[in-house]
Amino acid sequence: MTGKKTKISCQNCGQTNYYPENPGSKAVVCGHCHHPLPRPGEVIEINQVQAANLINKSSLPVLVDFYSNSCGPCMIMAPVVERLAQRRAGELMVVKVDVDRNPELAAQMGITSVPTLVVLHKNVERGRISGAISEMDLALWVARIA
Ligand SMILES: [Zn+2]
Repeated sequence: MTGKKTKISCQNCGQTNYYPENPGSKAVVCGHCHHPLPRPGEVIEINQVQAANLINKSSLPVLVDFYSNSCGPCMIMAPVVERLAQRRAGELMVVKVDVDRNPELAAQMGITSVPTLVVLHKNVERGRISGAISEMDLALWVARIA
């Protein structure tokens, strides 16, 4: 990701920003709400309010990894999801939600098992998958819908 600015949606308010190529040592913050922005390709943990903002407003599709710390397959999927986030930086926002800490959001989203990955864009669900899948299958699935 060099040579151009990378699009990134604020995990706090959902506003899409351009992440500078060479941010130096100063924190990069959202132009709208001044919340620090994640680095492009970074998987960030979000809460219910942030999820609603991101899902409603992000100009980039959002992949939400619903997980639990007590779930073995979730731990297997975490690095796979992180590598996907790196590869799709600037095209797709990848975030994770701990279902144990956000039970209301999980219920609202109809999450019945973890890990469940849901891709949404402007409040429209594009698809979801549950359970651990291979890195290749994940990449192909996401490429079809986001
Ligand atoms: Zn913001």
